[in-house]
This record gives sequence, structure tokens and C-alpha cells, in this order.
Amino acid sequence: PDEAVQDDIEKFKNTFKGIAQRFRLINRIGEGTFSTVYKAEDLLYDNYDNQWDIEQKDVSKWAPPPLKRRRMGDGPMPPTRAHSRNQKPKYVAIKKIYVTSSPIRTQNELELLHDLRGCDSVCPLITAFRYQDQVVAVLPYFKHMDFRDYFRDMTVADIRLYFRSLFTALAAVHKHNILHRDIKPTNFLYDIRKGRGVLVDFGLAEKEGTDCTPCICRDTQSERREKVLNALALTGQQPSTGYPKNDPRPSRRANRAGTRGFRAPEVLLKCTDQTTKIDIWSSGVILLTILSRRFPFFNSADDIEALIEIATIFGSRRMKACANLHGAIFETTIPTIGEKGFHLEKIILWATNRSGKNEHGEEEKLPSDEVQAVKFLQRCFELDPQKRISAEEALRHEFLAEVGE
Ligand code: ADP
Ligand code: MG
Repeated sequence: PDEAVQDDIEKFKNTFKGIAQRFRLINRIGEGTFSTVYKAEDLLYDNYDNQWDIEQKDVSKWAPPPLKRRRMGDGPMPPTRAHSRNQKPKYVAIKKIYVTSSPIRTQNELELLHDLRGCDSVCPLITAFRYQDQVVAVLPYFKHMDFRDYFRDMTVADIRLYFRSLFTALAAVHKHNILHRDIKPTNFLYDIRKGRGVLVDFGLAEKEGTDCTPCICRDTQSERREKVLNALALTGQQPSTGYPKNDPRPSRRANRAGTRGFRAPEVLLKCTDQTTKIDIWSSGVILLTILSRRFPFFNSADDIEALIEIATIFGSRRMKACANLHGAIFETTIPTIGEKGFHLEKIILWATNRSGKNEHGEEEKLPSDEVQAVKFLQRCFELDPQKRISAEEALRHEFLAEVGE
């Protein structure tokens, strides 16, 4: 590690009492908005005891258990999660959650990880410590490569494996009714050589149904129309006048957490009843990134720009229908947003410079395996979350179903 990283590691060792006795900090491997992650060697790695398991739910009570070395004559090692899973996490990732992150948020992340401890494809929580106002989470170190180093070279077979692994993880998470909310390449640690990845970063994750109020997107079309007409009647306006001028409805507030470029349309439209389907959309953005060989694919500065980017692809007609689903109105005069948008196959051909003519003077087409990938992508990019494919269904889709396990 360079000098700045070395300084940072020293500072961490000096401010977090006791950390250096248990861990040998090796390097800084991640630095995000909410945390810094270090690679470390667990000096007690073959001395795990059940005492390391988290039982206390109250963050304020999390503190390092006494460091105790097992001695000869202490009897056999008690079975632990690490051992029963046949993986000794000698190397760990220590996630130092910034003190500016709220305690509730930190507790939420650790609790959800604890709920998901049985899932193979979710990076398990080994333990967590608190010292004063600082909380660290300890996870087994998972070897992976930087997405930007391999995504351009992935074959369709590689892509299938990647998504088989990602959707297996999502199916497990969604089965617990948990939305990850921040699916993107840096939160899915993928080992391309093994064809296996794990999900990390549950900092924004939430249980489906918490913090939500009904949205009309769950209603049938006729119920929706009636509710919209009633709302408009309050303003004394006709439904055809477009944007209501004196809208008496309170402005909408909804969870919009996530990463720009990966947010589903219903998140951008402030749907108040978001589901696990938002993770499927974000996974679709990863797939589009890989197929188009462009990262980041969407590059908007804010939510309005993000809607414009999506609308450019899907066209204004479908965007209007999508907005109506959530009781919103989509209007635009931007000339680059056509009514019909573009087919995803076209976009991928353009992005990969294959939009010319072939030797027979015909327009170039995608090979059949990529066409299959695009069909799958369309299912991830259903604008209506209720119609969008679920993780379970995705694993049965022809694009993923017959991937060698
Ligand atoms: P943040 O909330 O700051 O984004 P993450 O949990 O996403 O924190 O971790 C940030 C980065 O640290 C990841 O993108 C990854 O590169 C690295 N990282 C996190 N957990 C692990 C792990 N268990 N093994 C290896 N690297 C990890
Ligand atoms: Mg992250």
C-alpha cells in the first residue's frame, strides 16, 4: 500500500482500540460514500468460538468480546459457522462504517446481514465491533476482480454464468422479502475464474413493505383511472389538460436511495410502494452495460436526467404509461425522445460499432445467443414492476436455465 493508505491504516489502528491485536491490517480495498473497507488477516482465525456470533441486537451493546486464545487441553473446537461451512476466513474484509452514518442505518445493515446468514451467495457477517462511536463489520475476504477489467471481454457464456450467480443471490435475498436497493458491479463481488460471486453492501437494503404507503401501481387499470379522475376533480381540471396547475395533493416523498444510473423508473417516479423488482432493473442495467461494452451506460446527474435517458430508449409513449402507473404525468418536448424509442438490439449494435452493413450489403444483426440475452434483458427492463421478471423466474428463463452448475 502507498504512503497515504499506510497512514490511514495507522490512524485506524490508533483510534480503534484493540483492533490491531485481533487483525493484521493489510490494505485498503474500498472507499465509498458510507465506509472504508480494509483487507486484514484474522490472527485468531482458527480459534473461532461461538462467542463471536452476534446475539445482541442493540448496537450500543456491541463491543469486542474478550480476546481469548484457546490453549491445549481446552477440548475440541466448538463447531462454528465458519467451520461448518468448511471455510476458514483467515483473510477478512473489515468494513469501517463512517461515524456520520446513522446508528439506525448501521444497525439495519448488520441486522439484515444477520437475517441472510444462511445464504451462500451473500457475503456473511462474521462479527461486528463497536469502539466508542465507531462500528466495524467483519466479513470473510472474497477474492474478486474489478468489473472494469473484465466486462468488455465477457463472452455470452461468461455473461450467463455471471447472471446465474447474481440472480441466485437475488432470489435468496428476495425470498427474505429484502430489497438490496444498490445492485451494481461494485456491490457484487465476482470471481470470473470460478464463475461465482457474492453480494455485499446491505447499507441501503430494507425489508419490503417498511416505510411505504400504497401506490396506485398495484391497482387494476380501471381502479387507477378512477383514482386519478377523483384526484383531478379536486383540482377542478379536466383529465386532458395535462399537468395540473394547482395540484392540491401533497408532494410525494419516497425512498430514492441507490446509485445514479441504476435506479428503476418507479424509484425515479417516486413510487411509494417499491418492491424487490427494483433490484431486477438494476441488474438489467449491468447486463446492458456488458452487452453494450459501455460503463457507465447511464450517466445522469439527477433523477430528471435519468428519466430522460430511460425515455430516450423506451420512447415517450411507454414512459407516459409508466408514469401513469404511479399517478405521475410524463411530458416532454425534448426532440431526441421519440414516441417509440429504440429497440435494445439496435442500441447494442450501435454501442459496439456493429451498425453497418455486412459483406452482403445487409444490416448487421446480433448473433442468436446475444438475441437471447436481449430477450432476457427486456424482461428485466419491463417498465411496470409487476410485469418485470422476478429473480426466481429469471433462473428459469432460457437465458439462464441451462447454465452448467
Ligand atoms: P460501501 O457501503 O462503502 O459501498 P461496500 O460494502 O460496498 O461498502 O464495500 C466497498 C468495497 O469494498 C467493495 O466494492 C469491494 O471492493 C470491497 N469489499 C467489501 N466487502 C468485501 C469482501 N467481503 N471481500 C472483498 N472485498 C470486499
Ligand atoms: Mg458499495
